[in-house]
Amino acid sequence: MFEKVLIANRGEIAVRVIRACRELGIRTVAVHSTADDDSAAVRLADEAVRIGPPASRLSYLNAAAIVEAARQTGAEAVHPGYGFLAEDADFAEICADNDLVFIGPDPEVVRALGDKSRALALMRAAGLPVPPGSAETVAGLGQARAAADEIGYPVILKCAAGGGGRGMAVVGAPAELAGAYARTRAAAQAVFGDDRIYVERYLDPARHVEVQLLADGYGAAVHLGTRDCSVQRRHQKLVEEGPAPALSAGTLAAIADAALRGARAVGYTGAGTFEFLVDEAERFHFIEANCRIQVEHPVTELITGVDIVHEQLHLAAGVPLRPRQQDVLPRGVAIECRVNAEDPDRGFLPTAGRLDVFAPPAGPFTRVDTHGFAGYVIPPYYDSLLAKVVTWAPERELAIDRMDRALHEFAVAGPGVRTTIPFLRRILDDAAFRKGRYSTGLVDRLTGDGS
Ligand code: ADP
Repeated sequence: MFEKVLIANRGEIAVRVIRACRELGIRTVAVHSTADDDSAAVRLADEAVRIGPPASRLSYLNAAAIVEAARQTGAEAVHPGYGFLAEDADFAEICADNDLVFIGPDPEVVRALGDKSRALALMRAAGLPVPPGSAETVAGLGQARAAADEIGYPVILKCAAGGGGRGMAVVGAPAELAGAYARTRAAAQAVFGDDRIYVERYLDPARHVEVQLLADGYGAAVHLGTRDCSVQRRHQKLVEEGPAPALSAGTLAAIADAALRGARAVGYTGAGTFEFLVDEAERFHFIEANCRIQVEHPVTELITGVDIVHEQLHLAAGVPLRPRQQDVLPRGVAIECRVNAEDPDRGFLPTAGRLDVFAPPAGPFTRVDTHGFAGYVIPPYYDSLLAKVVTWAPERELAIDRMDRALHEFAVAGPGVRTTIPFLRRILDDAAFRKGRYSTGLVDRLTGDGS
């Protein structure tokens, strides 16, 4: 096992990884920007190295500074968390060139799956169902129009290099295509530096169901069951639960099998997630694979008892896969709510500022992953995720009631700071959510957006 790991991230996931390392007797190095001098990760890590100013480009995305911090401190491996450099194949290569273990799949796998249109082609070749029309990227509006006509409206335009729910446009009718195409292409170039776009059928209603996987470099792979992440605002997840509710056992098993087949086809190693959309007839379609730890991994940890970050560290150190499929016996139901520093009444606009009060919930079967504390000043530069509240119960109904109790207890206050807590409680109270029969349209229905 490694003796020292550098965490190339911030916020709750940096804290999460530091905890896993300490449990395994691994020393930790937190790298941070000047905006995070007083962060929880800096306090909890064994060592901290300030690598740059607040702008991510100059700090958390600054590969050279991160590698230099690893060299200075003698770290042997880099855990990239999620976001920032987690799915950057160039960074994975730079780590390898500097004798640092990148905790994630091989750079070629990161590169292949990070290109969403290439990932679709690879998965289709491996026999996985994909949304109608998913194909090559389109060169120009003419090809986009031809593809959309062939697929049939509504369609969704997506960026090949996309992620984080950004740069997607749903197009309901041919007249909207030209405008949406121009906007998506501009966004693709501006946000991802890659203007390639592809077109697929917009599935509506659809549920987002994903499979958590672990695989080693010796041919062994297991799945840790499913999560439903259909509660989304602007294509970004807000509430996740596992196992995915209201789907037949046969469908869930088929989705898990497909994910394993896909992972094997590309030689996937480490922890990863294969994402699918499921339609009303329970037909499922692969949409993308994520080569990293996911925000919602605690859901799976609570139902399987597997510590996914421990497993990532073991796998990256070359230890053969430890959990065997027959030992993975999911129990009960877990739900995660993302407490974001956002104003739900103003289009989920991020809020920043000092937390005068920060009292997270506790109590039975309640886990909170957070980097917040009373007196913490939320910087305005980064992701708005402040805390993840996760509850477990033998049955779904009680897991939801427990979540509502936990969110009721959660006290967060500071000048100008708003959180998603009240909105999350509305979701928990929604009749369709309670029944487990909801789709990706749930949040729009509650906020009055969309149809
Ligand atoms: P990102 O990589 O940006 O997260 P995804 O491809 O994972 O993008 O899609 C994010 C979400 O957008 C999905 O969970 C779903 O809600 C919606 N979405 C994406 N593709 C489709 C589609 N073909 N039909 C319907 N909804 C879609």
